[in-house]
Amino acid sequence: ASVLEIKGLHVEIDGKEILKGVDLTIRQGEIHAVMGPNGTGKSTLAQAIMGHPRYDVTQGEVLLDGENVLEMEVDERAQAGLFLGMQYPSEISGVTNSDFLRSAINAQREEGDEINLMQFIKKLDKNMNYLEMDLDMSTRYLNEGFSGGEKKRNEILQLMMLEPKFGILDEIDSGLDIDALKVVSKGINELRGEEFGALIITHYQRLLNYITPDYVHVMMQGRVVKSGGEELSRRLEAEGYDWIKEELGIED
Ligand code: ADP
Ligand code: MG
Ligand code: MG
Repeated sequence: ASVLEIKGLHVEIDGKEILKGVDLTIRQGEIHAVMGPNGTGKSTLAQAIMGHPRYDVTQGEVLLDGENVLEMEVDERAQAGLFLGMQYPSEISGVTNSDFLRSAINAQREEGDEINLMQFIKKLDKNMNYLEMDLDMSTRYLNEGFSGGEKKRNEILQLMMLEPKFGILDEIDSGLDIDALKVVSKGINELRGEEFGALIITHYQRLLNYITPDYVHVMMQGRVVKSGGEELSRRLEAEGYDWIKEELGIED
């Protein structure tokens, strides 16, 4: 099984240190949730792994099966089996969702091993049905502005089509009504298994009622300050974050 290791990660934005040494190890087969108050660096963690140019990694490493992810180009990260949230070919106009998905799948494959069109369509139909998506979503142009809910569903569709080794999902639950939330969770639960690992970043415990994480981590002030199992997220739901601050002597 593959392993994604985040070791002593320090990240700065515009010279300001946001992540102050994050350590996390995710194995395939495991779902990890990262929770924490607003502004504690959760999205910064996702963006740094994603390779967003604005986020400077000043110390530490991210390794996928021992390979340095931070030295890879963004498309190489995807090819190596990391899914880093919704991807848009924003510079290309006139690309349908379906075209984009097919080229993204083929980009992960060796030359000569491209997915056959019939296989692709079958898989796309199956997954769109599963996610209760309108079939016309596949022929819509990516740049033509999906709604918030459509974007989240589409993100999960991308995930199901690409079947990455690891998915890093930031706030996939934000702004979703309960039906959309259930569908998004259903997709992740479908992928769950020996060949998939995920880091699910969420501000709210709500999502974790539908996706039971194996591990829960709390981030505060740029560090993982507490880790536990599912019971940790339930306690956070009931009691908020103050008890952790008190336990650790953290001041706001
Ligand atoms: P979270 O996802 O936990 O809410 P973020 O990672 O978005 O937290 O933000 C962590 C800190 O970094 C916050 O103090 C925020 O103001 C700051 N920050 C985030 N993005 C930027 C940015 N693009 N430029 C400057 N500061 C930023
Ligand atoms: Mg935020
Ligand atoms: Mg965030």
